[in-house]
Amino acid sequence: MSTFQAPKGTYDLTPPDSAKFLAVREAISAPLRDSGYGYIETPGFENVELFARGVGESTDIVTKEMYTLTTKGGSQLALRPEGTASVLRAALQANLHKAGNLPVKLWYSGSYYRYERPQKGRYRHFSQVGAEAIGTEDPVLDAELIILADQAYRSLGLRRFRILLNSLGDKECRPVYREALQTFLRDLDLDEETRRRIEINPLRVLDDKRADVQKQLTDAPKFRDYLCDACKAYHEEVRALLTAAGVAFEDDEKLVRGLDYYTRTTFEFVHDGLGSQSAVGGGGRYDGLSEMIGGPELPSVGWALGVDRTVLALEAEGVELDLPATTSVYAVPLGEEARRVLFGVVTELRRAGIAADFAFGGRGLKGAMKSANRSGARYTLVAGERDLAEGVVQLKDMESGEQSAVPLAEAAAELAKRLG
Ligand code: AMP
Repeated sequence: MSTFQAPKGTYDLTPPDSAKFLAVREAISAPLRDSGYGYIETPGFENVELFARGVGESTDIVTKEMYTLTTKGGSQLALRPEGTASVLRAALQANLHKAGNLPVKLWYSGSYYRYERPQKGRYRHFSQVGAEAIGTEDPVLDAELIILADQAYRSLGLRRFRILLNSLGDKECRPVYREALQTFLRDLDLDEETRRRIEINPLRVLDDKRADVQKQLTDAPKFRDYLCDACKAYHEEVRALLTAAGVAFEDDEKLVRGLDYYTRTTFEFVHDGLGSQSAVGGGGRYDGLSEMIGGPELPSVGWALGVDRTVLALEAEGVELDLPATTSVYAVPLGEEARRVLFGVVTELRRAGIAADFAFGGRGLKGAMKSANRSGARYTLVAGERDLAEGVVQLKDMESGEQSAVPLAEAAAELAKRLG
């Protein structure tokens, strides 16, 4: 071990486990790529003001969890705690919304940073794959995103996840509900911090995990009774589209999520095998966010799925991903001359698109064969002095154990044929 370790709340991805993370990112993004979403990449840090205005001054993310820094030039930056604000900022900056092709559909994958109290499933550095559809108000779009996330999880073999769905209203009905809720909450027996929250972000109180708080919330006014007709109709349409697509969901009136920008449709994917950190992904509509960060009116919807927690969910369900071996051919040279010759064959194979690896470091046959086994290669090529003198290499099928001599000059072609 070195003097240094990964910082608290972070962990490294190393082989072979790292392959699972790649596969999960691939599986989550595949349905998006097949549905007209283009790839976007933004910097790992942004002007801190973007998150303060976008994510919300009253959220835990902004008040407690951001990694902020002042550059030598005096700029106030923050490591990105989430993706939506950055992606919208980038889309506006590039004028993607003016290209006359709305919605602008984008997907992304990357690292996010939150200074949280670390525990299983909650890290200070984590990884998300996300999608945003910018500039269109259409319940079909909300449904599309939820269906694509469902499809992604199913393609990985996950089954024990649930979709929680809610509507947070719009700028017409939300303020009315907010006030009714505040009036109700102010009469409850709550601690100082929660009382402060009533004034700045009362919906978040509904999300409080403590039993004594939840007990007092039984008779809280329900958003359902305050939704305006337009929001109600919109929400019913989203629900009907999901049902028509065979995607099961649960109406959850307590689902408010930790970010201020959500309007109307909000949803979360939870997994029942993960204990307290059960949210594997979430998202919703954010019709006001563009204006909040100085852009035009651009109603939008999106989600982010957590890669770390998706991997934990796979483990909780005992799902083994079918990860094909990365190496097809493993070359084991015995002696100096064989090293040169077999390395030549390996290079030829690689150039022909066949994944090949090599026993480096002049190791003995036994150790090298162990590495060949571990590599998962279907075939090994072994050659010693005598083989070379005869102009052949030994080609071993690692599945059947069969071995045969193949003329050196034909080895690459023979392997290409056998590997199809
Ligand atoms: P949020 O932006 O908070 O809605 O998070 C979206 C998803 O990102 C969550 O459902 C988690 O899967 C994942 N996520 C958020 N915060 C963390 C964290 N601290 N550690 C690991 N995953 C996280």
